[in-house]
Amino acid sequence: MENKTSSSNFIKHIVTEDLKAGKHDEIVTRFPPEPNGYLHIGHAKSIVLNFEIADEFNGRTNLRFDDTNPLKEDVEFVESIKEDVKWLGFDWDGLFFASNYFDEMYQRAVLLIKKGMAYVEDLSQEEIRALRGTLKEPGKESPSRSRSVEENLDLFEKMKNGDFQNGEKVLRAKIDMASPNINLRDPVIYRIAHTTHHNTGDEWCIYPMYAFAHPIEDAIEGVTHSICTLEFEDQRPLYDWIVEHCEMEATPRQYEFARLNLTNTVMSKRKLKQLVDENLVDGWDDPRMPTISGLRRKGYTPESIRNFCREIGVARAFSTVDSQMLEHFIREDLKLKAPRTMGVLRPLKVVITNYPEGEVEWLDAEINPENPEMGSRKIPFSREIYVEQEDFMEDPPKKYFRLFPGNEVRLKHAYFIKCEEFIKDEDGNVVELRCTYDPETKSGTGFTGRKVKGTLHWVEATNAKQAEFRLYEPLILEEEGDEGVEEKSFLDNVNPNSLQILKGYVEENMAHAKPQDKFQFFRHGYFNVDPKHTTREQLVFNQIVSLKSSFKL
Ligand code: ATP
Ligand code: MG
Repeated sequence: MENKTSSSNFIKHIVTEDLKAGKHDEIVTRFPPEPNGYLHIGHAKSIVLNFEIADEFNGRTNLRFDDTNPLKEDVEFVESIKEDVKWLGFDWDGLFFASNYFDEMYQRAVLLIKKGMAYVEDLSQEEIRALRGTLKEPGKESPSRSRSVEENLDLFEKMKNGDFQNGEKVLRAKIDMASPNINLRDPVIYRIAHTTHHNTGDEWCIYPMYAFAHPIEDAIEGVTHSICTLEFEDQRPLYDWIVEHCEMEATPRQYEFARLNLTNTVMSKRKLKQLVDENLVDGWDDPRMPTISGLRRKGYTPESIRNFCREIGVARAFSTVDSQMLEHFIREDLKLKAPRTMGVLRPLKVVITNYPEGEVEWLDAEINPENPEMGSRKIPFSREIYVEQEDFMEDPPKKYFRLFPGNEVRLKHAYFIKCEEFIKDEDGNVVELRCTYDPETKSGTGFTGRKVKGTLHWVEATNAKQAEFRLYEPLILEEEGDEGVEEKSFLDNVNPNSLQILKGYVEENMAHAKPQDKFQFFRHGYFNVDPKHTTREQLVFNQIVSLKSSFKL
C-alpha cells in the first residue's frame, strides 16, 4: 500500500467536516484543465488532490476540459492531457467539456438578462477598464447599464447570431460598480470571438468568460468541492453570485490552495509554450521540461510523482519546493526496481596485456544487490575493455585511488588490474592504457590476499553496445520569483548547458532494453531509455537523477 495524503491537507479536513454535518451524500470533485498546453508537475498536484480526496471518501472525480477560449485550444492538448492523467494512475468518473454546456450557459445568461442582472455593453475593453475604478476608488456606471431588458435580449441574440464584430459588444453581469471587490464591478461574462472552436466548430461566435462558465460547469456536474489555486480567491464572491442568480440546482463551493512552485523551474503554460515554440527544447516532452510528458520521458514513474505530491501537502501558504525533493522520490522508487548495470560515458580503452588474445569469459553479476530476487546476469570479460577517462590520471593528487601508473584497482564483478603503461596521441591525450590482471583476484572467489582502494566500472570492448547518454542540468538557472527576474525575460535565465550528450558504451545484455526501461548505472545514477531518439542501431539514455544528493526529507 502506498502511503496516502500523509502530509497536512486542510481540504481533507473540510470534506470530513462537511460529510459529518450531512451536507452531501457524495463528494464530487473535478480536475478542470484548459486544453491550451501540456500538463505540468503543478497540475499533478491538483490531480492527486482532486482524485485522492474523492477516492478516500468514495466519491467521484470528473476530468473536465475548460475549453471556453477557442483562440488557444487544440485537440492535441486534449489528447495529451487524457494520456497524462491516465499515466499518473487516475480514472475519471466522467469526461466532460465545458463546450458541451454552451447551450445551457447561453440560457443562463438570458435568464440573468431577464432578471435585469446582465446587460449588453457597447464600450470597448479600454473604456470598460477606464470606468472600473481602483482598489481605492469605486467604478463608474456605463451608459449601457440602464438598457431595458427587451433591448438587452435583442442585442444578446444578435451577438449570438454573428451580427457584430469581435470586441464590438460584450455581455456584463450587473452587480455593483462600487463593490470593494473589483471582480464584482459588472464583470464581462460573454464576449464575441469569430473563431473555430476545436469541439463546437463554427456553431458559436460568442463565448462565456471563465469566471461565468466555471461555476455553471461545476453546478451542472454536481461538483461539491471545487478546488482551485489561490489566484481565484477574489473571484469566489462572483462564483457564488453566479451559482445563486443563474438559479443552478446544485451549490458547489470553491476552495483555494497554494499552487506548486519548484526551484529552477518555470511552470506557467505560457512560458513552457514559448520554450517549445522557439525551439529551445525538444518539444513539450523534452526531459528538461517540468511537464508530465517530459518527466515521463526523463524516466520519472507515476509512483514517484504521486508520492511527491502527497508529501508536499496542501496548504494556503505560498511556498517554493526544492526540485531536489522531486529527485528524492524517484531515487526512492527506483532503488529496488531498477536493474543495476555498467556503462562508460567517456570511454578510455584498456588492453589487459596478460589476458589471452581472442578469449572471452562470462562473469556472474547480481542485478540488484538490494533486491536479490532480481537474480543475476552474465557479463563478458576479455583482453580489451573500456573504463572512464576520469578514472585514469597520469599524475594524480593524494587520495586518488583509481588508475595511475603502478596502481592496482578492482574491476567491479571481475578482477584486479594494475596500470603498467599509457599511450598518448599526438595532441598529448591519453588514448589507451596497458594493464595486467591477476587471475587469483576473480570476483566471487573470496580472494583476500591484498586490498585495493578503488573499484571501477567498465565494459568489455568487443561485445559492448554503443550508446548515447544525455545528461541534464536545470533548464532555468534562477528561481522564478527571484527579485528582478520577472522584469527580465525568463528566457535570459535559460541554462545554455542544460543538455550534454556523450557517446559511450553499455553492457552487451542491453541489446534487449526497450524504450522507457530504467537502469541504475554504477556510479552514474539512474537512466531511462529515451523513447524518441532510441533507434535499432543505438540506445539513447536520459539521466533521470544522479545517485547521491545532500537532500534530506
Ligand atoms: P498555468 O498557469 O500553468 O498556465 P493554469 O492554472 O492556467 O496553469 P489550467 O489548465 O487552468 O492551467 O489548470 C487546471 C487546474 O490545475 C486548475 O485547477 C489549476 O488551479 C491547477 N493548477 C495549475 N497550475 C498549478 C500549480 N502550479 N499547482 C497546483 N495546481 C495548479
Ligand atoms: Mg488557466
